Amino acid sequence: MNVYDSARMADVLAPHGYRSVGSPDDADLVILNTCHIREKAAEKVYSELGRLRKIKTARDKNLNPMLIAVGGCVAQAEGEEIWARAPWVDIVFGPQTYHRLPEMLASSQRKEAVFHAEFSAEQKFDLPLQINTSASTSEYLTIQEGCNKFCTFCVVPYTRGEEFSRPSRNILREASQLIARGAREVTLLGQNVNAYLSIDEYGSKISLGELLFQLAELPNLERIRYTTSHPRDMHKELLDAHRQLPEVMPYVHLPVQSGSNSVLTDMNRRHTADDYRHAIDQLRTARPDIAISSDFIVGFPGESEADFLDTLTLVREVEYAQAYSFKYSARPGTPAAIMRKQVSEDEKKARLAELQNLLRQQQISFNKKFIGKTVSVLLERHGRHNGQLVGRSPHMQMVHVNASDSLLGKLVQVNIDGVDKNSLSGHLFTDKFQQPKVTN
Ligand code: SF4
Repeated sequence: MNVYDSARMADVLAPHGYRSVGSPDDADLVILNTCHIREKAAEKVYSELGRLRKIKTARDKNLNPMLIAVGGCVAQAEGEEIWARAPWVDIVFGPQTYHRLPEMLASSQRKEAVFHAEFSAEQKFDLPLQINTSASTSEYLTIQEGCNKFCTFCVVPYTRGEEFSRPSRNILREASQLIARGAREVTLLGQNVNAYLSIDEYGSKISLGELLFQLAELPNLERIRYTTSHPRDMHKELLDAHRQLPEVMPYVHLPVQSGSNSVLTDMNRRHTADDYRHAIDQLRTARPDIAISSDFIVGFPGESEADFLDTLTLVREVEYAQAYSFKYSARPGTPAAIMRKQVSEDEKKARLAELQNLLRQQQISFNKKFIGKTVSVLLERHGRHNGQLVGRSPHMQMVHVNASDSLLGKLVQVNIDGVDKNSLSGHLFTDKFQQPKVTN
C-alpha cells in the first residue's frame, strides 16, 4: 500500500513541477513514506532521518534548500515524537492526507509547521485522483483502507483508521487511467480488501466479487489480483469471481497467523482454525489450481508448545505456495503488548526456524510442480543478466526468461526448466506472444 501511496504522491505533486529523482542528494523534497507494522520498520525512519539531516545541513539554505517530509503510519502514530527527535523535519502527515501535499508544501515554505495526523471525516473522502505519471506493467490500486477487526497485535486500526471503501466508479476510472498509461495487471489493495463494500450510483451494494466482475470488462486489463484478505470475508461473489473470471489470478494471500484456537481467540482474530480450513476448501473448490499464501506470527503471548504444534499441523494440511512468518513483536498501544505471558526470545527464535523450514520445503515443492510445464508470464522488467526479462506467473512466482525487450509488458508462454525457492526460469515456448485482449 505504501508503494501505491508513494506513486499517488508523485501524481499529486507532478502538476506542481515535481518529478522523481534517483537520489536524495538531487532532491528538493524528500518524503519518507513510513510503515509502523513492525518495530524494526518504525526505528529505520529515525536512522534514515539522521542520514537526510546531513544532506540538508550541507546545503546552502537560500540557493539549494531541501524539505523533508515524513508520511504514512509512523507519522500517524508518532507525529509528536518525530518533531521532538528530528526537528529538521518540515512536514509530518498521516495516511489518507497526501492529496493535501501541495498545500502542506506551500505552508512549510512559509516556515509554519504542518501536522496532519488526526483522522477526521474530511480525511475519509475519496481522492479524485488523476494519474499523471506513467504506469508500469503491473500496478497497485487501493480500493479499501483501514480495519475494524482490532486483532490484539496490530496497529492498523489505530494508524489507518476504520474501514473505508472507495466508490467503485472512482476505482474503475483509476484502473482505466492506469491501463491507458501502460498497466496490464492491477493488484487491488486494502488492509481488509475482501471486506470491500460500497454503494454505487444506483444504490446497489458492490462487494469485492462484484467489483472484480466490473473490472474484468475493462479492455486490455489482462490480470487482476487482490490483497490482503481476511478469512471471515470470503463471500460467495468472490468465490464466483475466482470460478468464472480468467482475469482473476489463481493466487490468494489469506493470513491465518496461528493454527491454535486458543491463540486465535487471544489474537481476537474472530475465526477458528476450522473456519480457515473451510475458507481454503471453498477457494479450492472454486478454483482447483489456486495457490495459497499466508502470514504467521510465532511466539504470540501465551503461545504454548502445543499451540505451536497446531500451527505446524495446519501448515501441513494446507500446503502453502508461499508465506510470510515473523516472531511476535509488541507494538505500543496494542492490547497484546501488555499481555502477561510473553514468550521468550529463544523460544520464538526456535519456533520461527522450525516453521520457516517447513514453509520453505512447501514452497520448493510447489515450484517443482511447474518443471516441464508451460506457464503464461507477464514480463515486467529487465533481469540481472544481459538479455534476461522477469515477470510473474499466474501463481505469483517470479519467472526469469531470455527474451527481447520488445516483449516487455506482454504476456508470453514460458516453458519452465529451472526452479528454486523464490523463482522459476525457462525459455520462450514460442516467439509469438499473445496480443492484449480486446473486449467491447
Ligand atoms: S484484520 Fe489485519 S489489519 Fe485488521 S487488525 Fe487484524 S491484522 Fe490488523
